[in-house]
Amino acid sequence: MKKIQKPPLVRMWYQCPYCGKAAVIYDNTARCSGVYVKCKACRQEFEIKI
Ligand SMILES: [Zn+2]
Repeated sequence: MKKIQKPPLVRMWYQCPYCGKAAVIYDNTARCSGVYVKCKACRQEFEIKI
């Protein structure tokens, strides 16, 4: 019998493209577009594309 293997969940930081500060945590199963976040450090708005 084959074991169903779940891919290991790896969490990563999504960094602000303007200042490079970590803004959002996501894991490797995340699929995302059209979500906008305002960076707390530089107050720029950017799209989360995973
Ligand atoms: Zn920023």
